[in-house]
Amino acid sequence: MDYQDLVRDAMAAAVRSPLRGRVADYIPALAEADPAAFGMAIATVDGRVFGAGDWQQPFSVQSVSKLFTLALALAEGGDGLWTGVGREPSGNPFNSLVQLETEHGIPRNPFINAGALVVTDRLLELTGDAVGTVLDFLRAESGDPAVAVNRAVAASEAEHGHRNAAMAHFMAGYGNLRNPVEDVLTHYYAHCAIETSCRDLALAGLFLARHGVRTDGSRLLSRSEAKRINAVLLTCGTYDAAGEFAYRVGLPGKSGVGGGVLAVLPGRGTVCTWSPGLDAAGNSVLGVAALDALTTATGWSVF
Ligand code: GLN
Repeated sequence: MDYQDLVRDAMAAAVRSPLRGRVADYIPALAEADPAAFGMAIATVDGRVFGAGDWQQPFSVQSVSKLFTLALALAEGGDGLWTGVGREPSGNPFNSLVQLETEHGIPRNPFINAGALVVTDRLLELTGDAVGTVLDFLRAESGDPAVAVNRAVAASEAEHGHRNAAMAHFMAGYGNLRNPVEDVLTHYYAHCAIETSCRDLALAGLFLARHGVRTDGSRLLSRSEAKRINAVLLTCGTYDAAGEFAYRVGLPGKSGVGGGVLAVLPGRGTVCTWSPGLDAAGNSVLGVAALDALTTATGWSVF
């Protein structure tokens, strides 16, 4: 199997369409991303990684980090997490507040902002340092010590994060945060503002393709927990476009407004794409198109 050719062909198929999307600008520091950037990497369960384009260039991982916070919170604290956050698709934008009141401060799932704030809160409670825990994990799994938080992006998010702050306070009002709101927001913005590359994210996501086993052979999650995270990624990982993503790509995946998408090929490997132009739901246009091309060409999907 020539993975390098597969990556190149998928990227070439994606750029054949004229659709490019728009770079996110609601976090002003993200608006500076190069709209022409495009990279893709495939990592295999035995730890090999292949890429093309800007696959080694660091970018703002944003909501892709929510996959790692969820995995680490479950690894540290177990199933009790699910009393504070659900696992149903929201059918609403990632930054929506509307369901929080009718659902008594319990967010629909861990991959929309409200749910991710709860997960960050629990990881902070369990470890004392949510962002440090995520950074350590990403560095260890990717072998790249340069994975770091871009403090300017985190500050920009904090300055413009009125909706996230509103959600966090609202959930605190229902007793669904265990740390001070400011601490939860600080850790949340920091893990969203982590910068790393398609290469590193593909390697760091391999535990989900290996049914819970880390790069060093130790177990992060049980086989069943890894299966469940993949299931929630499939149904909720790409916000209110999760149905469309399942239809086109057919894999568990997590997107971020920095333009990254990390998808899991259970038992086989991971694929990470990055291109900052987003569709209306906040998913990378070229990234989803390249994943669509890859799974269409290879038949690799969970279906
Ligand atoms: N940090 C971003 C926010 O809170 C993450 C959103 C995303 O990537 N969908 O708005």
